[in-house]
Amino acid sequence: MPDPSPRAEEPLVENYQNETVALRRFADPIVFWDETLRDGEQMPGVHYTPAEKLQIAEMLSDLGVSVIDAGIPVVSAEEAESVRRVAEAGLKAEILASARTVPSDIDAVIKSGARQIAVFVAASNVHLRHKLRMTQAEVMDASVRSVRQAKSAGLFVAFVTEDTTRAPLDFVTELYRRVREEGADRLVIADTVGATTPMTFRWFLEEFRRRVEPADWSVHCHNDFGLAVANTLTALETGVNCPHVCVNGLGERAGNASLEETAMALELLYGVKTGLRTESLYGLSKLVEGLSGVPIQANKAIVGYNSFSHEAGIHTHGVLAHTLTYEPLQPELVGRRRQMILGKHSGKAALVEKLKERRVEVPEHILNVLLQLVKKGGEGQSKEDARLFVEEYRRRFDHPGVQDAEFWQMVRDAGVVGDEEEVEATAHDVQPRGSSPGWPEPNSSLPTESWKGSSPPG
Ligand code: MN
Repeated sequence: MPDPSPRAEEPLVENYQNETVALRRFADPIVFWDETLRDGEQMPGVHYTPAEKLQIAEMLSDLGVSVIDAGIPVVSAEEAESVRRVAEAGLKAEILASARTVPSDIDAVIKSGARQIAVFVAASNVHLRHKLRMTQAEVMDASVRSVRQAKSAGLFVAFVTEDTTRAPLDFVTELYRRVREEGADRLVIADTVGATTPMTFRWFLEEFRRRVEPADWSVHCHNDFGLAVANTLTALETGVNCPHVCVNGLGERAGNASLEETAMALELLYGVKTGLRTESLYGLSKLVEGLSGVPIQANKAIVGYNSFSHEAGIHTHGVLAHTLTYEPLQPELVGRRRQMILGKHSGKAALVEKLKERRVEVPEHILNVLLQLVKKGGEGQSKEDARLFVEEYRRRFDHPGVQDAEFWQMVRDAGVVGDEEEVEATAHDVQPRGSSPGWPEPNSSLPTESWKGSSPPG
């Protein structure tokens, strides 16, 4: 084994983060607000029982997350029960529940026992005109009344606007100033459709700070363009103190900013202390994977199966000589171990290392024979297993939730008598959930009667 220690005057790697320190202003402390139980559960097909929500909440709290959004009590009796159980569990984390700017929603949060509330309303013109069918003045009134109602019940109030990053800034400014006058404690800016970019988000946040001068502000970023974590980190660099995150990056559509990626980037790329017990991240990720039924992307950062696996000969040799060659973070920090995979791309160093497990040493010519056998073994793997797995995965995720056949049976069970043929034909018109078309949003004609005044948060 070559000596990995550097000469004293020469670092092993350059760290150019030091060149940009002056451009960043991280808040201290950074308050992690976890959305796994609310936005994460809003992912199509995902549902947690009250017991499961409690199990996840306990692990999030042990990890050191500060705020847990437990859900929207008004959604269903079971959801209200879930929030109540999490709120009454005596966890170290603050328990928050969410509400539209509707009095009965806020009452449901007050009754749930949660000590924090997220009051949310949309802010962009497309949401106001086509979803809420409210004017800016009506949104302003509803927001002020809602914050007043929640504050008079003694709750810590986070005020959230949906689609903030696509909303008129003058309206946003006025709205946040007014709710703060009513006592709103934390101001949350949402990139609801994940459509901002780091530099533009920075501009937006700087402008927001100049106009509103927030003392406690927060961001909720979505991943529609794969930028949720990048935008969240940009917000933190800009001085935002409360990032919304979600285990495994779950959430509506392409998901939210991933808890594990945001946390490890802060700790290791920026050297910011998060106060999180990062070695529990992998266990938490596996718990959520199991209970949500959503497999972690194999090459996902931090918690994907491949994040600390090496097969290629050059890489394996490098990592065995010094882990810094191909591992920017040590797997143990997130509760994992590195894996050396034997296959087509393997080299001799990996075999030597593998043989050490049983204290076996072999001469060079045997090693060469063994290497050819391993390469052949890797190339000869049956593709049938992989094919069946992908098929099952596609079947499961192409159309999760209540299936069409089940739904139309429910329609009949509900006593709706109709033309069987028409019912059958209608079934084909139903768009599968999660198949919403792209940008810009077409006119939506989703039924909104019972949600007039707001809709589930995006
Ligand atoms: Mn969301």
